[in-house]
Amino acid sequence: MRWEELSDEGPRAAPALFGTSAVTRTFDTPEFRGITFHEVRARSLVNKVPGASRMPFEYTVNPYRGCTHACVYCFARRTHSYLDLDTGEDFDSQIVVKINAPELIRKELSGPRWRGQHIAMGTNVDCYQRAEGRYRLMPGILTALRDYANPFSILTKGTLILRDLDLLRSAAAVTDVGVSVSVGFTDEELWRTVEPGTPAPERRLDVVRVLAEHGIPCGVLMAPVIPFLGDSPAQLRTTVRAIAAAGATSVTPLALHLRPGAREWFMSWLGTHHPHLVRHYEALYSNGPYAPTWYQRRITRQVHELAAEYGLGPSSSGAARRIEPPAPVLTEDEESDSPRGTQLTLL
Ligand code: SF4
Repeated sequence: MRWEELSDEGPRAAPALFGTSAVTRTFDTPEFRGITFHEVRARSLVNKVPGASRMPFEYTVNPYRGCTHACVYCFARRTHSYLDLDTGEDFDSQIVVKINAPELIRKELSGPRWRGQHIAMGTNVDCYQRAEGRYRLMPGILTALRDYANPFSILTKGTLILRDLDLLRSAAAVTDVGVSVSVGFTDEELWRTVEPGTPAPERRLDVVRVLAEHGIPCGVLMAPVIPFLGDSPAQLRTTVRAIAAAGATSVTPLALHLRPGAREWFMSWLGTHHPHLVRHYEALYSNGPYAPTWYQRRITRQVHELAAEYGLGPSSSGAARRIEPPAPVLTEDEESDSPRGTQLTLL
C-alpha cells in the first residue's frame, strides 16, 4: 500500500481546527477510497470522563475520531460537529488520526500523577476500525499498557484486534485485560444496510471464539438492539444462541438510543429503507434519545432469559468493570476534542 494524494496539490494542510502541524491525506486503494485522514499530533491522550457520566469507567483512550465502520446509528456522530464536520457522511469518511498516540500514552502512564487506573478503549469510536490497519497505533498503545501493567478494556466491532492477539496475551499476563465485542444482531440484510463498514456479525463472533481459545475471555455487548428490525423473539434467540456458541463469557443487551447527531442520520436512513417504520420510531422515541423504560426492560429480560437458557451471564468485566477513584490526569487535548466533555458512547 502506498500514500496516494488524490489532490493535485500533494499533502494538504488540515483544517485550522486540527492545528498547524496537521496533515490531510487520502489513499487510492479500494479499502480507503473516499476517505480522508487528518493526521494530528495530539497534546494528550488519556481522557478523564466527566463525573456526571453514566459510563462505568473514568479514563478512556481514543486514538481516532470518526469511524469508517459507518454504523448509521452511531452514538458518536455528534462529536464530529465539534470539529466543524457534519455528523453524517463526514463522520464516516473524515477520520482524525492521533499519530503520536503510542508515544503520548507511554509518557502519560509514566507521569507522576498517574495512579494506574483502568483505561477503557473503544468507548467513543472503534480503535480497530479500518484505519488502524494502516496506522497501527494500537500495538504501541497496548505495548505501553503492558509495560506499565496498566489495566484496560477494549470494546470493538473490528476483527483487526486479532492482529494484536500476542500483545493482548502478554498484557493479560501482567494486568487485567477485558475485551468485549459488539454484536447487536446477526441478521445479514440488516447488517449490510445499517452497519455497512463493519465486519459481518459472524466474523465478529469469530473474534470472540479465537480470543476465548487463546485464554482471553470475551464478553459481547449486544448493542444496539434495534426496535422493529432486530428485536423479534426469534431474532433475539438467534443472536444470543450465536453469542453463546462463540464462547462469550457474557452478554449485555442495550437497546438503540438516538442522540442528536445520530438521530437525524438514522431517521433519514429509516425513511429510505423502512419508511413504514418512521411513525413507529417517532412514537417510541418521542420523549428523547432513549427507548421507553418498558421497552428497555423487556429487551433486557428477554435477553437475560435466553442467556440463562444458553448458559451465559450478564457482563462482569470488560467495558463494565469497576474502576478506582479518580486522580488528576492530562486532559487538555480531549477537552479540545469535546468542549462539553460528553462524547462518550458505546459501540
Ligand atoms: S458504532 Fe462503533 S463501530 Fe459503528 S461507527 Fe460508531 S464507533 Fe464505529
